[in-house]
Amino acid sequence: MNLLFNDSSITVAIVGCGGFIGCHLLDAILTRTKWRVFGVDLDFYRIQHRLSDERCEFMVADLADKSVVERIAKYPVVVNLAAICTPSRYMAEAPEVIRSNYDHPAALADACAKSGSWLIHFSTSEIYGRTSADSGLLLEDETELTFGPVTASRWSYATAKLLTERYIAGLKNLKWTVVRPFNFVGPYMDFMPGVDGSGIPRVLANFSSALVRGEPLKLVNGGVAKRSFTSVFDAVDFLFALFETGKMGRLSEAALENAPEKSPFSQAFNIGNPDNELTIAELANKMRKIYAEIKGVSVESIPEPQVVSGVEYYGEGYEDSMRRLPSVEKAERLLGFKAKTPIDDVLRESLEWFVKHYGSAS
Ligand code: UDP
Repeated sequence: MNLLFNDSSITVAIVGCGGFIGCHLLDAILTRTKWRVFGVDLDFYRIQHRLSDERCEFMVADLADKSVVERIAKYPVVVNLAAICTPSRYMAEAPEVIRSNYDHPAALADACAKSGSWLIHFSTSEIYGRTSADSGLLLEDETELTFGPVTASRWSYATAKLLTERYIAGLKNLKWTVVRPFNFVGPYMDFMPGVDGSGIPRVLANFSSALVRGEPLKLVNGGVAKRSFTSVFDAVDFLFALFETGKMGRLSEAALENAPEKSPFSQAFNIGNPDNELTIAELANKMRKIYAEIKGVSVESIPEPQVVSGVEYYGEGYEDSMRRLPSVEKAERLLGFKAKTPIDDVLRESLEWFVKHYGSAS
């Protein structure tokens, strides 16, 4: 075990510790290191098995509470994963989505700037905005950002996330890293509508729910939009590469001065897997095939996908990004990290988990 991972004096604060990414990060920290965790969330169902771990302290709270924000910022490394990120809510509850994705993380950034903590803030690949079908690789520091009109409230989430990035980058004295996830998928993603959540989750959970219920998969506006799907386990490996490169925030001034181009601080990183790009219609067909294999039935017995209009499906104000292909050169160059899990493996693992977890609840 390396010295950093073996250092039991390190405590990481994870905001959103009970969520999809948080639960996998927590598991990895507790298995790969000797660190302690201070975990904050409103819901802990995904991490029941960790609640009595003596290396963890958990708090039921959110960032709306100022005293909680100050408490979190006492830890030297803070990972903020908390967000409202259910797509149907971007149209139905734009003000609340904006408060959750701007006001709360900005307050945490202020507190970290004051305490000197390293803030690792999870943003989104949505900040690349209304990309077109022929847009190429999205580069962290070069790509132009274009959004739809303010009446298209799909962009409420992306706009708030982008403003938070700008706020963080503008804060003097804040040691920060911004992470932009490109369609993370894996076990425990989102929820099954009507079982443990409401509204429309992201595409993987939606398609998985429809498969388990024997309903047709809905292809929004024909399913021609493209996404690059990334295993959540690759995302956790990215975080470990980041932790190591930044030496848990202790990277010395001398090291930073000697090789400023290698610093993981004051940087936004895409985390994605450009090899796993699919149209949503291709995703639907892959998932139908894998589901048929898991259930030992013919793919013809699984209902054909159905085309629906985006506005009818999500509500007034829905628009889409047509392609979201990450450049991952920066993470490779600065952190030596590259996502490696192929799309078929990611989807099989996710679907097997979904069937086991929700198979009897549908
Ligand atoms: N989508 C779809 N059917 C669904 C859910 C989503 O066709 O049941 C489409 C959606 O319109 C978008 C893509 O799948 O083009 C990815 O949507 P998601 O909500 O997962 O996240 P996004 O990448 O847009 O943030």
